[in-house]
This record gives sequence, structure tokens and C-alpha cells, in this order.
Amino acid sequence: MKIERIETFQVQWSPDESPNQRSAYVRIWTDDGLHGIGEASPMQGGLASLNMIAHNIAPAIIGADPLDHAVIQDRLMHRLVKLGPEGALTGALAAIDIALWDLKGKRFGLPIYKLLGGAWRTELPFYASIGGNGIERSLDDVLRIVEKRMEDQPSAIKIRFDNHRVDLDVQIPDHIEKARAVRKLVGDKFPLAFDSNNGYSTGGALRVGRVLEELDYWWFEEPVQHYHVKAMGEVARKLSITVSAGEQTYTMGGLVELIEAGVPMIQPDIVKMGGVTGLQRCAALAHSHGVELVSHQTQPTVGHMVNMHVCAAQLHSTKPCEWNDPSTRMHAIFDEVPMPKDGLFRLSERPGLGMDFDEKALAERRIDVTA
Ligand code: CA
Repeated sequence: MKIERIETFQVQWSPDESPNQRSAYVRIWTDDGLHGIGEASPMQGGLASLNMIAHNIAPAIIGADPLDHAVIQDRLMHRLVKLGPEGALTGALAAIDIALWDLKGKRFGLPIYKLLGGAWRTELPFYASIGGNGIERSLDDVLRIVEKRMEDQPSAIKIRFDNHRVDLDVQIPDHIEKARAVRKLVGDKFPLAFDSNNGYSTGGALRVGRVLEELDYWWFEEPVQHYHVKAMGEVARKLSITVSAGEQTYTMGGLVELIEAGVPMIQPDIVKMGGVTGLQRCAALAHSHGVELVSHQTQPTVGHMVNMHVCAAQLHSTKPCEWNDPSTRMHAIFDEVPMPKDGLFRLSERPGLGMDFDEKALAERRIDVTA
């Protein structure tokens, strides 16, 4: 079995969207007619990653054995490191790795979790991850959207405050008011998490963190700028609430720095950091340091599905899987998409990812990115 051809394309979800809002996929074909699908981080439409795949990665791996996915990843990481070892390059390598694991599953007729050594669980609880709760949404609107997402029976809810990382601390009163109101809405016992998306100074983060402790929130995500690793650690050490970070970290060394600074829960993302191969390595790192690995994941189709395969095979699963604001329009191009039932996602025994493209629907929406 050899890699014969690699397709790189964006998928357009609606006609009026910008290219930067599209999702980024890769499909790898072998000489015996199998194919695997992967997804890259969709930042700015994933265009930088897709261009790297088309220009730099595809020519280097045509003819390679797909089962050599770890060798392929490490070789390309070193060969292309001067393109920047963070962000677009790791997103590109992640997409390739996911597609190669999908291929491997199809080659052996087994789901990815089985190839990882087996699942501790194939029924996975999730937390509803709700973005956009800053000043763009009124307090009442926040409560209404939380109520709406509760209908999916999540085992926890995370409220995110997005897009104010150049304007630190000014919205703290608004955030605290909303955190209190959501706690009141869902009751004392329901698990809640709070994501500031890097919105605070160290002092501001401590102020908010103490309120979250009083309100018994489960974790406090990215309280300060992600690149201020020492500050992230200081906030984590001074608060008793679990502080988490790592969705903007792309290397094992970067995760080690967070852990050594004192962050007890790391959140690497499978479509940003090495795919299945990369996330498995992160899990080993977290386990060996005694910190929690709760992977970040906001892509509702391939990213979410592949993330659940790795979560299913992980020894300790201390928190539910992230499920982002669901957008069912993305379901149009797949024959099967992950959807929860009675509060659980269920992984099937279908080979590889357990999902594939609907060719006709895909043809109508794909926008090829070629070398
Ligand atoms: Ca986050």
C-alpha cells in the first residue's frame, strides 16, 4: 500500500461566507484504491496549512507507506521546521496524520480506537462549549443559549468569553455577572466551566478566579495571555480552581513549560498538534507529569470524531469531551456525523474514523487548493 494522491480542499458552508470561515480537509488516496480523510485547524480557513500540504508535504510523501505515519510526521516536522514549527505547519501535519489513521483503520477493518490499544469507553459524555458570551451578548441572551444547549443533555457547560484579548480586564464586571447568573440558572450541582480566552491580566484573573471558586466552577480556562506562561502558572498556583491552558500550544516542549509553570490541566488540540499520533504523545506527557489532559476540540465533524477516538482510548478521562456550538450545516457533506443521544456520543465499530464524505454533497461545496 502506497500513497498515490493527496487532495486538499476547503468546504464552503454558505455562499456568503469569507474564505477564512471555511473548513479545511485533506483526502489521501492509496494505490489500492483506499482513501483516508483528515482535517486541519480552520484558523483563517486553514488555507496556510492546505497550501503547505499541496506545495511542501504532498510531493514529499507520494509513494510512502501510509502505515509509516509517525515517521512521516517527524521527518516532515524537521524538514519543514523553518516554515514555523507552530500553527500552520502543525495543523498541516495533523490533517495528514488523521487521514493516515483513517486509512490504517480501513486497511485493517478496525476503528481507530481499537488500533490505539482499545477503548476504555465507547460511550462518551460531553460538555457543551458555548462561545460568544462577552458584551456582544446580553445577560438574558446568555441564559437563553445555556438553556437551549441544556436540551442536548451535556454533563457540563463551559461559557466562553471571546475576542477581547487586546483589551484586558475591562469586561470583568460583565463576565462575573454572567458567571453568577449561569450558576443560578443551572443550580448548585451542575458542573460549569469558564473560559476567558486570554482576557485578563494576572491580577484580573485572580479576581475572577476567586469568584469562580465561590461559585464552584469546575475549571478556569486560559485566564491570561497564552504566551505568558509564567503568569498562567502563577494564576494556577494561587487559585484552588483548576486552571487550564494549552489549546494554543503546538509542541511537546511548549506543553512541558506550561506544566512546569504549574498548570494542572493541558488542552492540546488534535487538529492543531500532530493528529492522533501527536495527541497520544501529549497524553503520555500528561500522564507522566500527573496533570489532566482534556483535549480542546471545536470542529464538529472530523476533528470531533477523531478526538473522541483518542479520548476513548485514554486511561484517565477526568472531564467530558468538548462539543462546540453545533452547526448542522456542516453535516451536509458526510454520510455520518457525531451526534449525541441521551447525553452520550457513541463510537461505532466502523473502520477508521467511522465517517466518510457524501461525494455528491461534497462536490457541490469543495474549493480545491492546489500547488
Ligand atoms: Ca478555550
